[in-house]
Amino acid sequence: IAGCSSGSDDTIVPGTNAAFAPFEYKEDGEIVGFDIDLAEAAIDRAGYEVGDWSDLKFGSLIPSLNNNDIDLIAAGMTIEPDRQEQIDFTDPYWESNQSVLVQSGGDFQPEGESDLEGSRMGAQKGTTGESEVERLREEGVIAEDDLKRYNNYVLAVEDLEAGNVDAVVVDQPVANNFAAGRDVSVSFVIETGEQFGMGMRQDDDRLADINDALAELREDGTYDDLVTEWFE
Ligand code: GLN
Repeated sequence: IAGCSSGSDDTIVPGTNAAFAPFEYKEDGEIVGFDIDLAEAAIDRAGYEVGDWSDLKFGSLIPSLNNNDIDLIAAGMTIEPDRQEQIDFTDPYWESNQSVLVQSGGDFQPEGESDLEGSRMGAQKGTTGESEVERLREEGVIAEDDLKRYNNYVLAVEDLEAGNVDAVVVDQPVANNFAAGRDVSVSFVIETGEQFGMGMRQDDDRLADINDALAELREDGTYDDLVTEWFE
């Protein structure tokens, strides 16, 4: 194999953080979800082979990409300026806000940010949800000791169900998914207007092919079919 890429130039090795249903999660040991299907369809449509998926910590995705361990990030990752300094993103494929999850039917039912005063809040490390919780800490709404950071969002929501934290901030579609399957509900939404993109190395010229493929998948209805399959 020439060079030091993770595969040959005709294979794209994808990586994700499989605790973010319905975008990516594990079912019977297999990584499944909307991002998985969309990334595989785009890689295939662009004329490349799909390599084996790596399931990594969210915070390890960008270093692993730049280390050539993976070639593409599909992890509900928001296109953010500080990330764009490190990697390139495809054209946006999803829009999201952040939702505040609390225990269903509990005493704590905040209706806005000021109601979060003094509460214990959780988010996944290195995410835009964590950025929102950090902002609330900077604004003096919550204390540093009451901010809990988790390795993934499943652990955060389990801690919420157990009562070890009062609220969890997570991307809106994922919050809705947790609310449908667990003893938690959405109390309100923080409008962040985020856009998700897939990540690739800044020197990887295959990005243009993936963008063309994503556009084709939208035009031919594949994208809409996947939305129906995973979100409706
Ligand atoms: N969209 C959020 C971010 O990029 C969360 C992604 C995730 O937890 N998989 O930070």
